[in-house]
Amino acid sequence: MIIVMEPNATEENIQTMDRLLQEQGYQTILNRGDVLTVIAAIGDKNTVVPKSLSAMPGVKEIVPIQDPYKRASRITHPEDTVIEFQNGVKLGGNSPLCVMAGPCSVEEDIESLLIVARGVKEAGATFLRGGAFKPRTSPYDFQGLGEEGLKRLAQAREETGLLVVTEVLDSQDVDLVARYADMLQIGARNMQNYKLLNAVGQQNKPVLLKRGLSATIKEFLLAAEYIMVQGNPNVALCERGIRSFDTGFTRNVLDLAAVPVIQKRCHLPVVVDPSHGTGHRYLVAPMAKAATVCGANGLMIEVHPDPDRAWSDGQQTLTIPAFQALMTELDALYKFRVTSDQL
Ligand code: PEP
Ligand code: MN
Repeated sequence: MIIVMEPNATEENIQTMDRLLQEQGYQTILNRGDVLTVIAAIGDKNTVVPKSLSAMPGVKEIVPIQDPYKRASRITHPEDTVIEFQNGVKLGGNSPLCVMAGPCSVEEDIESLLIVARGVKEAGATFLRGGAFKPRTSPYDFQGLGEEGLKRLAQAREETGLLVVTEVLDSQDVDLVARYADMLQIGARNMQNYKLLNAVGQQNKPVLLKRGLSATIKEFLLAAEYIMVQGNPNVALCERGIRSFDTGFTRNVLDLAAVPVIQKRCHLPVVVDPSHGTGHRYLVAPMAKAATVCGANGLMIEVHPDPDRAWSDGQQTLTIPAFQALMTELDALYKFRVTSDQL
């Protein structure tokens, strides 16, 4: 980082700062200009910028050079991360678009789950999604089937060969969910649940981290960093829309610019969820297509055999034929996608 001292900083201010930086493990180089003194502080990749330095006497500005999300940053890892799953499916880099599809929640009727799993598999999806532990805004809404739901997902995997991605709501359930799932989902409401992030970082199933409802991209990347610093490098980031002031026509504001913004700075795969991102069925296909072209590595889409009877989020859920039609269009669009080397 660079520390710019005020024009009126005293020699003592400069020396104190220099000493403090060296005590923190930095190597320092002092550049004395006619007006300003600038201190270049060179640390190793684990040295953290102490914010308190900006309050020291005589300091004008501190300019960090390295990204605070060191493991997630492209500076330390220039190539795209490609997550590989047991059955050869890949997510990230130039791998085929990885589509995760299925109902919002796993419901009582196993046949309905099997129907949707067969339908999305036939259309080219590689993951079955579905919540067994549901983070619902109201405590009166369906909260999910818990382990029973996980068993149904595993049964659908058995039958179709699809991989399973499902949400873990609580750090105490990580082992349980990891026993059934191929990828653990951290929901938007838990993006900054640091205990949960640590827990999924300490196990070895890949993690799909959804962007928090009001998270900046930097906070999103730092949440991924929490998982990675615990030893799990297989994290994918899912843009699912953020809160804004206009709630009239969409459930959230789907930030598609976040896809290239993240891919320019971070090597992890990016997934877009146009279902939660928009909250409306008619917006899912347009946003899925746009997400594909702007470079998403994967998509998460809610699909149900009978969306009007779905136990949750039916209004934003596609029918199986609508999903199949969308997949054909996505296939044609994939070759136009922006790749990270173009950013
Ligand atoms: C979900 O994907 O099931 C879900 C609850 O999404 P989010 O965490 O993005 O709201
Ligand atoms: Mn949902």
